[in-house]
Amino acid sequence: MKPVIELSKVNEVKKLLRRTKLNTVCEESRCPNISECFWNRTATFMILGDRCTRGCTFCNVKRKYPQPVDPEEPYRLLDAVRKLDLKYVVITSVTRDDLPDGGASHFAECIRVLKENVPDVKVEVLVPDFRGRREALERVLREGPDVLNHNIETVKRLYPKVRIGSSYERSLNLLKVSKEVAPHIPTKSALIVGFGETMEEVLEAMADLRSVNCDFLTVGQYFAPSLKHYPVIKFYSREEFSLLEREAYSLGFKFVACGPEVRSSYRAFEGWLASQRS
Ligand code: SF4
Ligand code: SF4
Repeated sequence: MKPVIELSKVNEVKKLLRRTKLNTVCEESRCPNISECFWNRTATFMILGDRCTRGCTFCNVKRKYPQPVDPEEPYRLLDAVRKLDLKYVVITSVTRDDLPDGGASHFAECIRVLKENVPDVKVEVLVPDFRGRREALERVLREGPDVLNHNIETVKRLYPKVRIGSSYERSLNLLKVSKEVAPHIPTKSALIVGFGETMEEVLEAMADLRSVNCDFLTVGQYFAPSLKHYPVIKFYSREEFSLLEREAYSLGFKFVACGPEVRSSYRAFEGWLASQRS
């Protein structure tokens, strides 16, 4: 059963986050798991601004005019992590194709500052594809994140409609390269379902992820942010999510979370724990 924390406590956390001027995916996306995650001292921060240079048709993030990189951001992140006494931090970002390294050095700086100052904290990075630049990924991995996450989001056939500007193969390759460079760091990915993919295509995407040794997987339902966004073609039943979860475990994933409300960072700490046991 989900732990429930008082609304006043959640509001207190929200106020503190606002004071640090940091964007959290938890708040921005009005994530349904917010009380459970804050209870578990987990949060997902979005660095490098709130403007994306890609055009995924399901996503509500603002487009165009990306902001300059704020060198103080890693320290504000540190401040928030300390004040909230977080034990598991997920750092993600919009895609920054405008930056020469795609924002990799800023990711690296955030990991470094947290690891140097909060020795017990676990840091998962949910990175963009860095346009396939190996050296950008290597820069991030050098700082030793506890989990390297990159979401493929949808099945191969739907990339041209759903993930405009991105490439299924490039995303899979990023996960592959991560294992080549840092085999000790667990990798993770996510699928969103409801775009009109078939069950066979979802299973194929899972098998593709296992073929590059991806360790953890989350699968969640798509809910369209507005009528202008890509429409929801299908709502999956609990039974279908359970079936996907069983199939994923049988393919060899070490940790899987599947369900309508599941987000990429849902129960992220448990995934990391699973990797420690294996
Ligand atoms: Fe935040 Fe992720 Fe938890 Fe949602 S699932 S509240 S985005 S940490
Ligand atoms: Fe949204 Fe990420 Fe796609 Fe950008 S790359 S539009 S942030 S899903």
